[in-house]
Amino acid sequence: LGTAARLYTEEDPLVILSSSSLKPSVINSSSAWLVQFFSSWCGHCIQYSSTWKALAQDVKDWQQAVSVAVLDCAQEENFDICKEFSIKFYPTFRYFRAHSPDTDRGTPYRGADREIQSVRQLMVNILQNHTKLDRPDHCPPLEPYSSVELLPLLGQRSDHYTAIIIEEPDSYVGREVILDLLQYSGVEVKRALSSDLPLLDALKITTFPSVYLLHPNTTHTHLHVQKRLRFFFSSLLRTLPGVQRRLKSGSSSTSEGQMGALPDKQSTEPWRDFDRSKVYAADLESALHYLLRVELATHNTLEGEELKIFKDFVTLVAKLYPGGGSVVKLMETLSDWLLSLPLPRIPYQAVLDLVDNKMRISGVFLGAELRWVGCQGSRAGLRGYPCSLWTLFHVLTVQHDATPTALENTGLEGEAAPVLQVMRRYIRTFFGCEECGRHFEQAAAVSMEKVQDREGQILWLWNQHNMVNYRLAGSLSDDPLFPKAPWPSPSLCSSCHEEKNGVHVWNHGNVLFFLRQHYGASNMSPKYSL
Ligand code: FAD
Repeated sequence: LGTAARLYTEEDPLVILSSSSLKPSVINSSSAWLVQFFSSWCGHCIQYSSTWKALAQDVKDWQQAVSVAVLDCAQEENFDICKEFSIKFYPTFRYFRAHSPDTDRGTPYRGADREIQSVRQLMVNILQNHTKLDRPDHCPPLEPYSSVELLPLLGQRSDHYTAIIIEEPDSYVGREVILDLLQYSGVEVKRALSSDLPLLDALKITTFPSVYLLHPNTTHTHLHVQKRLRFFFSSLLRTLPGVQRRLKSGSSSTSEGQMGALPDKQSTEPWRDFDRSKVYAADLESALHYLLRVELATHNTLEGEELKIFKDFVTLVAKLYPGGGSVVKLMETLSDWLLSLPLPRIPYQAVLDLVDNKMRISGVFLGAELRWVGCQGSRAGLRGYPCSLWTLFHVLTVQHDATPTALENTGLEGEAAPVLQVMRRYIRTFFGCEECGRHFEQAAAVSMEKVQDREGQILWLWNQHNMVNYRLAGSLSDDPLFPKAPWPSPSLCSSCHEEKNGVHVWNHGNVLFFLRQHYGASNMSPKYSL
């Protein structure tokens, strides 16, 4: 089978098993497994693959307790193993308990409902179907705690938060949140039932599900959420101060295209307080500083296609950077200079000279150092430049929407999504992280051409950025202080989030509204800027 026919790829958040890896993975494993045996020629399997991928994404953080996998019985090398496991119809779902014996061929799941919510609940049931002794090594207890066990915890000092989710007996939210937090340290989630009257009485709980939070410092409060949904509970608990995602152990994998450490002075710099609901001009200035003085400076000369891409980038920023000021003046001067040059190639040193010297004479300059604010990392090499580059392009998509005629007579006005196209060419040609560029190019090739208007442009970039966030969550480039997660979080925009059939969905209208506000000119803070 060619790659084109493959239903699942390494990019998907699930495990692709084969004849050689099936048994070593599922037999005597420290986690439970849910395996879909499929056939890549079966029409239903093809249709169902998007649901299975969405399920795998939805429970990606449960992996240490229960893993989601696929095995393609249509691949020749898998014929024997599918026979050994008596797979006769596709898709066939089998689950394997943790620590299952050599002889285990899996327990079939024959439920008619294969929607995400039902399968997810099945996974919870599988986990609960273990005893204390054979439970997956990393799976916390999912059984409800009683008031007798919980009430003594009130007022006790601890090194972590304890979140008590109180809910109706048939609700899965509590158990799902416990599993959502599996990879996080600093918080322990416990489930209790709405039938436990002494508990309700003591905590004054009247609505379900509710979360009651015991702080490490002995205080305890009812946790306020805008919507009583799994996603809201999990997001809030993940962002409590001190709660951190545990990094994948021994993660030396480079398949995620790790950004290399950037040579900057971050580690010695004082921390700059900032507000996550603002965009900082200092980050955008630092992005341009790094881009012009470091990233592009690795090219001795610019000519042909590269020169054209550079010119387009400068034009785009000159026309769309919000608020005028030094940056715009610099980029305008640079743009005029580039356009006035009849040369087919320019030595990059000439650009640097212009930025460094001529600018100083005319009083227009770009910050002479990197000053990250909203893009500060908890240590050097994290966040910084790539963070600011995303931010810059989000700002440009929103600004293009706010000033639709800004690109007239630039040669860019004919493109349906000029900001995305320039970004695509820039990333492909100049962005220092090659692997990132390859991923971005793949995504662009699939769907960027479909973007038809300025709103679509804003949303495409937002969605693509979230795809990257999903992929990188828990990887080496994930800053524990700023864990990668679907953005905006419920605390930034609660109306952006909804649930449909038990699955988190975005309200795109509200996301667009939020992005226009967040990346709009009036939300840009000059603090720490030039
Ligand atoms: P970032 O992801 O850089 O986000 C910066 C800020 O943007 C966040 O703090 C938040 O305020 C906001 N934000 C977050 N999500 C969204 C969203 N969906 N929409 C709008 N705003 C949002 N690194 C790799 O290791 N592998 C890769 O393949 C890879 N590909 C990349 C591709 C591109 C085009 C770029 C620019 C960067 C890529 N990176 C990649 C780097 C990676 O995405 C992060 O930029 C980097 O790890 C720093 O992360 P961060 O925590 O600062 O947040």
